[in-house]
Amino acid sequence: METKPRTSKYICIWCNLKEADADSHVVPNAFRKKLWGVEPRNGKTFSFKYLDRTDLPNQDFPKPHLMCKGCDSNLGGTVEKNIPRLIIPKSMNAESWDKLPIYNSLVGTFDGEEVSFPAYDYGEPEATEVDRFVVLVAWRALHAEAISPKDSTMLVAFMESPSWIRLDQSARKFIAGGALRDCGGVARPDLWRLDPEMVAGISKDSEELPISWGVIGESKVEAVMVLFGFWLVFWRVNFDEPLSDKTRIVLAWLGFLRKHYAKMNA
Ligand SMILES: [Zn+2]
Repeated sequence: METKPRTSKYICIWCNLKEADADSHVVPNAFRKKLWGVEPRNGKTFSFKYLDRTDLPNQDFPKPHLMCKGCDSNLGGTVEKNIPRLIIPKSMNAESWDKLPIYNSLVGTFDGEEVSFPAYDYGEPEATEVDRFVVLVAWRALHAEAISPKDSTMLVAFMESPSWIRLDQSARKFIAGGALRDCGGVARPDLWRLDPEMVAGISKDSEELPISWGVIGESKVEAVMVLFGFWLVFWRVNFDEPLSDKTRIVLAWLGFLRKHYAKMNA
């Protein structure tokens, strides 16, 4: 695969007009700030380590050049504005987590243990507000993968397909406020909150949180996943074919990240 150099010549993925000159966060910086103990009420501090992209810094939140400063700031002030309040507990203790509406939505086996993936249980309009944010994160991760120097024939084939163009347009329409049913088959995304024990099982350090993203599929790109601290995003990007077993895909990716972490710390 041809390696695309990381220059400022990229065009903003949102407006498709201006130069992508913003340090765009795939995951909003508010999450890092909150978990890093910048907010005094938080009580506990965490560091982050980025996995599986050698071209990005492995500390902090990576900031690929995806958008122009105007679009980056507009999305931050609209789609992302209320999200920390809806998603992040006031403190990292069990009582604060219990105050958020969460239910168990996916169950599987990880590390020989049965694990559940709690999801947020908001009514409208918050449910759609969260969905727009989750699609925004997954869509940015997909664009970050598209400009990554990873040698992946599966990714190249996807980025050259009509499905990608359709998905890109439909995702932007949904993020901008369109109803999901009018957005060309955009899949409702999943956002799960992982148990701290599971996250620590990946990083082997309860105060170091993993951040990573990737495209998932066996022979074709099926979904994009983003892990940031205690949150895991799953978004199906192939509308045309039946999805492989979601639980298996999700757990396989987490297992892959755990192995990657073990190698980094070896
Ligand atoms: Zn722009």
